[in-house]
Amino acid sequence: MKYFLRADVIPCKGFTRTALIDIVNSEVSFLDNSHYDTVHQLYNMGVELMDENLLSLLQADNYVIKAENIDHFPRISLKKTESVFSIDNCIIDYNNHSTYNVVHILQQLDDLNCKYVQLRYFDYSDEIYKVVDYLNETKSFIQNVEIIIKKTHNHFQKLEKLFHENLRINKLILFKSENTGVLSLSQGRIFIEVQDDIADCKSCGIISTNGFFINKYHVKEANNFNTCLAKKISIDVTGNIKNCPSMPESFGCIEDTTLKQALGKASFKKYWNLTKDQVTICKDCEFRYICTDCRAYTERSHFNDEGLDISKPLKCGYNPYSGEWEEWSQNPLKQGAVEYYGMQRLRKI
Ligand code: SF4
Ligand code: SF4
Repeated sequence: MKYFLRADVIPCKGFTRTALIDIVNSEVSFLDNSHYDTVHQLYNMGVELMDENLLSLLQADNYVIKAENIDHFPRISLKKTESVFSIDNCIIDYNNHSTYNVVHILQQLDDLNCKYVQLRYFDYSDEIYKVVDYLNETKSFIQNVEIIIKKTHNHFQKLEKLFHENLRINKLILFKSENTGVLSLSQGRIFIEVQDDIADCKSCGIISTNGFFINKYHVKEANNFNTCLAKKISIDVTGNIKNCPSMPESFGCIEDTTLKQALGKASFKKYWNLTKDQVTICKDCEFRYICTDCRAYTERSHFNDEGLDISKPLKCGYNPYSGEWEEWSQNPLKQGAVEYYGMQRLRKI
């Protein structure tokens, strides 16, 4: 009889420690790197005799099983699989100066079979109701809508009603509120308010443990694709079609270019296959398969031969070489990039 690591507990070696990623219970535990070779063997072929200390650590979390043959416990495949659809998620940014028609964009997203849409209203806008009407009146393919909108007291009850009556809105975030907290949570749908001022797209890209995705889909995605930019299309507040609203490169304006035309342009997908294994510092981090990436705001320190920015995300305060978190905006080495992006207002004192 051999010991095996459970198939749904995936080891990931970082510079200072090894993470055991439990994708069923969405938990992570850590081991000293001296145990990595053993857990790797435990995952791939099983081990007959084991260090008693390691065994009791793994048994405490219920991570090991004893069996004759690994075939009874097939390993999870993390190999690349391509979705048949060209796009699966979209960010639409809108503010008081935006003039484009959001519903026209949703119609094009439906033609592309896009499933997830995030709408970020940096000012309050009644456009939100047109979006919901569109979803309700058509057989839209869009399954999941996340809305970020500025809180106003005049519209609070109307927005609350909107959330409760429209099941496709799986997340509604009111920002610039007096409080931070959950207003409603049921069946995976969440309505929250936050004190932060999400004034523009520069608020995006913050890396924290709260934003980790500990599930099979994300771990597989992170092994093969960029976890933020792959299969994403976006429209910024002025109507530019981009991979993400914060990226500098525009592939045309929504008034005279279709989403399909933009997607067909040569460099639209240039970051889609860039994984954390290719990003400096992140490639040494034990969180790289559960973390998201950000290519719009980086430390701007490293570029590969194709000119792709492979620097660590700017808004990450984790140091995989010490295993410690710090406030990213206070790091003196990041100040050049903070000023380059004009993010001084985001600095925490
Ligand atoms: S690349 Fe960065 S800024 Fe753009 S959507 Fe992703 S996390 Fe946000
Ligand atoms: S260094 Fe930061 S951004 Fe990179 S994988 Fe680790 S936690 Fe994520």
